[in-house]
Amino acid sequence: MRFEVRTQHREQFIDITAEVARAVSESGVSDGAVLVYCPHTTAAITINENADPDVVRDLLDGLERVAPRHAGWRHVEGNSDGHLKSSLVGASEVVPIVEGRMALGTWQGIYFAEFDGPRTRRVLVSVLSEA
Ligand code: ZN
Repeated sequence: MRFEVRTQHREQFIDITAEVARAVSESGVSDGAVLVYCPHTTAAITINENADPDVVRDLLDGLERVAPRHAGWRHVEGNSDGHLKSSLVGASEVVPIVEGRMALGTWQGIYFAEFDGPRTRRVLVSVLSEA
């Protein structure tokens, strides 16, 4: 399945755990894995803490230190920092499914990471069964 994410800022993390959990639930798969994929070159998928919102802010600040927006990049589109952050964070995550539910840790959430918004983005979700 797929769903859309509308981002509101140039850089932001959006919690998509509920959308992925719905796809897992609707699949009826009891034991397997779910693949969450971002088909964009200036966005990404990651798993991190969903309890303290400062964690997400710190992740964005840290990525900005690693890949500043204006650092003499060659790419004329002006979003090389977004491309770099996309590759650093990665295009996908895989989460095990145990007894019909994602085996996320207590404080883990799945995030869509925007690095060149605002835009309308797509997320692809594939639920795979062990059986
Ligand atoms: Zn570009």
